[in-house]
Amino acid sequence: MTKLALLGGNPVRSKLFPAHNFIGMEEKQKVMEILNSGVLSRFLGVWHDDFYGGDEILAFEREWADNYQAKYGVSVNSCTSGLYAAVGAAAVGPGDEVIVSPYTMVASVTAAIAFNAVPVFADIDPKNFCLNPKSIKERITERTKAIIVVHLFGHPADMDEIMAIADAHNITVIEDCAQAPNAKYKGRPVGTLGHMGVFSLNYHKHIHSGEGGIVLTNDERLADRLCLIRNHAEAVVNGREVDSLVNMVGFNFRLGEIEAGIGRMQLLKSHGLLDKRRRNLDYFNKNLPEIKGLSISKPMDYVEHSYYAAALNYNADQAGLSRKTFLQALHAELPETEMRKGHGPLISGGYVKPIYLYPMFQQQIAYGDKGCPFKCPHYKGEINYSVGICPETEKAHATIITHEYMQPSLEISDIDDVLMAFKKVANNMEALRQFEKNTS
Ligand SMILES: *Cc1c(COP(=O)(O)O)cnc(C)c1O
Repeated sequence: MTKLALLGGNPVRSKLFPAHNFIGMEEKQKVMEILNSGVLSRFLGVWHDDFYGGDEILAFEREWADNYQAKYGVSVNSCTSGLYAAVGAAAVGPGDEVIVSPYTMVASVTAAIAFNAVPVFADIDPKNFCLNPKSIKERITERTKAIIVVHLFGHPADMDEIMAIADAHNITVIEDCAQAPNAKYKGRPVGTLGHMGVFSLNYHKHIHSGEGGIVLTNDERLADRLCLIRNHAEAVVNGREVDSLVNMVGFNFRLGEIEAGIGRMQLLKSHGLLDKRRRNLDYFNKNLPEIKGLSISKPMDYVEHSYYAAALNYNADQAGLSRKTFLQALHAELPETEMRKGHGPLISGGYVKPIYLYPMFQQQIAYGDKGCPFKCPHYKGEINYSVGICPETEKAHATIITHEYMQPSLEISDIDDVLMAFKKVANNMEALRQFEKNTS
């Protein structure tokens, strides 16, 4: 039995894993074409044809909308700004509540705060790590104006149930699809199941343009409000008719022509890259050695997962070993990834801390230092951000392991190395228990 690297043996692999880099000739040619045109953005912040941007922006929006069978696509410069625009378009404001997930990247919560609304955290379903419809139902009040649903790790949330609840209460549903491009729920792509769907084209996502994002919707009025909020609404509402001035303060969330052009080329690759992610993860899951306490988190049978990350459930009591030591042992066996030095191996524990435990919520300080929006006089609800409000989220944070050993840059031989590291750890669990005892 070979000795674990953590205990002084040789690691399974030291050669870096190949970089997740899918910028090729198509993107380069596109960028040259745009540079040669001299038009790097055609947006104009006044009421004019150019209010909606240039050729690449319009083509990017059309192609993304078509890919998701959506009527409208509104490009933005990040998923974060897309979420802000979506909350604004939904006319959320002071005194309103927005139901959010505590298990997400922070922007899917701060989008509510940006419009002085109060985030109310519902709990996740541990089977898919997305908002649990039952918990949403419990947390709806007469103040609930919107729900921001996150398709976490690429697993679609239970949208039929969530939409039924939302429709019954006339609540706007925003899907945060940053981690779920091309994921499907009962055969339908995410992003069009709620009222608005927001995608990311950030460098760290499935496909990217450096920074970028897009909001999809089938609702003409929401599409119009999104376009206004994206581009200095207040400067143009005089030049045209708008039926509501609510949240027409406006921002500059405009995407550039170069990013839009890159985003078009990346979209063409997105399905092939996702196929490879699925092939890789299938192989990983089929060959993962048996380790007591470790199990694969299987997707619900009615979804097509897009695997931004894959989750493993880890029961430290059954394994007889802490998650920390288990991961430490794997980390010692595995190298980092090219172009991501200092990021560590592509496996870690817990994902993010439940968002309500962040200082902003614990101290209730966001805008200025007077407690807005939490203590806003327009707000008539009662805030509770205590430990324990979302027990399933807290449990998942304490027990799951996530990994990205399905990235499309990886070949089967790379995944074999990862599996070898798991095998080595599986064969040395007793030695690790001793190590843990001696070091604690
Ligand atoms: C990455 C991410 C975002 C933010 O995307 P940006 O384009 O970087 O603003 C929002 N929500 C989730 C779930 C994410 O993973």
